[in-house]
Amino acid sequence: MAVESGSYYQDWDDETRSVRTGTYRSQFGEHSEAMFLTSSYVFQSAAEAAARFSEAEPGYTYSRFTNPSVSMFEERLAALEGAERCVATASGMSAILAVCMATLKAGDHIVASQSLFGSTIGLFNNILTRFGISTSYVPLNNAEAWGDACNENTKLFFMETPSNPLLELGDISAVSAVAKSKGVLLAVDNCFATPILQKPISLGADMVVHSATKYIDGQGRVLGGAVLGSNELMQQVFLFLRTAGPTLSAFNAWTLFKSLETLPLRMERHCQSALELATWLESHPAVSRVFHPGLASHPQFELAARQQKFGGGVLSFIVKGGRESAWKVIDATQLISITGNLGDAKSTITHPASTTHFRISPEAREVAGVVEGLLRVSVGLESVDDLKRDLARGLDSLAI
Ligand SMILES: *Cc1c(COP(=O)(O)O)cnc(C)c1O
Repeated sequence: MAVESGSYYQDWDDETRSVRTGTYRSQFGEHSEAMFLTSSYVFQSAAEAAARFSEAEPGYTYSRFTNPSVSMFEERLAALEGAERCVATASGMSAILAVCMATLKAGDHIVASQSLFGSTIGLFNNILTRFGISTSYVPLNNAEAWGDACNENTKLFFMETPSNPLLELGDISAVSAVAKSKGVLLAVDNCFATPILQKPISLGADMVVHSATKYIDGQGRVLGGAVLGSNELMQQVFLFLRTAGPTLSAFNAWTLFKSLETLPLRMERHCQSALELATWLESHPAVSRVFHPGLASHPQFELAARQQKFGGGVLSFIVKGGRESAWKVIDATQLISITGNLGDAKSTITHPASTTHFRISPEAREVAGVVEGLLRVSVGLESVDDLKRDLARGLDSLAI
């Protein structure tokens, strides 16, 4: 098998990297990369088996450790993120778990941004605490607060930017500078932005995690995740994964590898349509506020322009009249799917207060800005005019 590795892609733009990196070709010369559905590998001799198992020689031994389809996906995503190495995982949550298992021990402390993905908060608050690891939460957009929350046991900063559902931004460079001054590692969940919009490692982050389930697949088919960073850190992540087992399946890796070929194109369209929809919503009389990093009204518009290539494919907005109005808008849709998922070719709409954020107390929700009139839309690849018509049906019916 011909494996191109190393830095052959350094001169290529993302569009080329997304199509041309990570390709392994077998002796059959297939043009589209093959899928390697195999749990194990055969060796030419006892000596070769020994050399592979001892890692004296590179190569495959067992697919919980490595698999060619998984390697292809890892190499391509590493090229896009500008990371030395990528380690693929079974899901976004197993990527976050792997970061914690690789870098933390009992007694350690995490500082994390307040508005994290729900299961990440569940992992930090309900599971890691049982192993003596504690977490403090700070406002995403206040770099100083990250330093103030540190104690002598702080080992990891964990941030998600842009945040869900209000699309707040964290300044990766500023928080990275604080992390470096405190001798703490910074991990960034780059799921909303993808490497097409934002490359946290180039801004000083030590690690990036992904839920590949979202934009990277982009078609709502498979679960997957990834951790990226230096060879040294990724070796620790890899050792946890190969031992504990939440590795990516070959089928999912192949699916995600092929999805990366269209990621730059898809992200550009998601972002253009989201900005157009956000601008239109801002002028609708039934809407009191719109959140999207590409809008000049976004409080961190400057940071967004500096840190991200586009504003992103997710927007949220507040409908006048609270929950009743918000539910009316959802129920009037005929095209947009009513689901909590995001990053799909199909647009989705969610009422966070009664779904993704319903476990949080009403008071805490208000503090977090997840008010009863808030709706979140993940803007898909449909015609933006059709999406406007679909939202207008409910919005126009609200007598305001
Ligand atoms: C979905 C999501 C995750 C978890 O990913 P899974 O693939 O569902 O495990 C983590 N972070 C963010 C921001 C997400 O949206």
